Amino acid sequence: MNNPLTAPARRRVVLLATGGTIAGVGQAGKTIGYRPGSLTVEQILSAVPEVRSVAEIEAIQICNVNSDDITAELWIELAKTINRMAGDPDVAGFVITHGTDTLEETAYFLNLTVKTDKPVVITGSMRPSTSISADGPMNLYQAVCVAVSEEAMGKGVLAVFSDRIYAARSVTKTSNYHVAAISAGETGAIGVVRDGDVFFYESPGRKHTTQTVFDVSGMTGLPRVSILYFAVDADVDLLRFAAERSDGLVIAGAGAGEFSKRFRDVIRGLTIPVVISSRIDSSVITGDNLLCPNTIAANSLSPQKAAILLRLALASGCRDLASLYMEY
Ligand code: ASP
Repeated sequence: MNNPLTAPARRRVVLLATGGTIAGVGQAGKTIGYRPGSLTVEQILSAVPEVRSVAEIEAIQICNVNSDDITAELWIELAKTINRMAGDPDVAGFVITHGTDTLEETAYFLNLTVKTDKPVVITGSMRPSTSISADGPMNLYQAVCVAVSEEAMGKGVLAVFSDRIYAARSVTKTSNYHVAAISAGETGAIGVVRDGDVFFYESPGRKHTTQTVFDVSGMTGLPRVSILYFAVDADVDLLRFAAERSDGLVIAGAGAGEFSKRFRDVIRGLTIPVVISSRIDSSVITGDNLLCPNTIAANSLSPQKAAILLRLALASGCRDLASLYMEY
């Protein structure tokens, strides 16, 4: 019989389900034309009973949506749930199931707002549950293995996908058809999972989780930040319109965050914060690149992640935005 004093404590993982293709159902064998966010968290779990041998699972259905319908309110609910439950000594870590379209945005928001060193792991799938070789069960299994890994502690929010572990700041969707659709550009994966064995090789370099200034406890929503994508002949009236109805702007500029003289003339006159990012994947923007003195460099953050940092900074009354983009 097990000695309760010496037996290893049973590890509990909180599984927060939000929908996406991992909960998708469609025509048997097909990978397109399915409905994301159809299976409940219990149905997703029933396809991968092996998970129960890794940890006891406490499953919570936060929502069941296509991840393009995720909102700031759902982000805040996720962060508050994690912050509340992280204090429970029986909880080893958290896994979030999510659609791949905006997985990187939820990962980065949580990376800036959860206040725990316990692993918070986000995963999803490219193939719906009804397709041939659905990838959801293995991704979920490996995410749970990472969530109970001691080595994953203190690394910020992680994404686990197709045998690889990514840091929230750099993870991004790079394909809309390939099964290994999640990647991390120049910085790459920080670890791998072989079946259930977890190996880390790197640690995230930017501040996250307990090291950030953001506190979601009093938040119910986020300020409005619009992203403007620059291309040849981009319409400056759209820029003016977005600026009028937004608390801040992010420009997805060309190359090193550049845009036309007409864009420049409008941006120079704006009084709301304007963050300059780039529409290209491999980009680093510094203060020296800026065409307008009243703008802020996003460094290597993608436009969608630069917008999340700006929304949180505005919600928190942060003044030194340029420093935030160098630290987070
Ligand atoms: N449209 C889906 C979603 O993001 C795509 C996926 O999960 O792969 O919810």
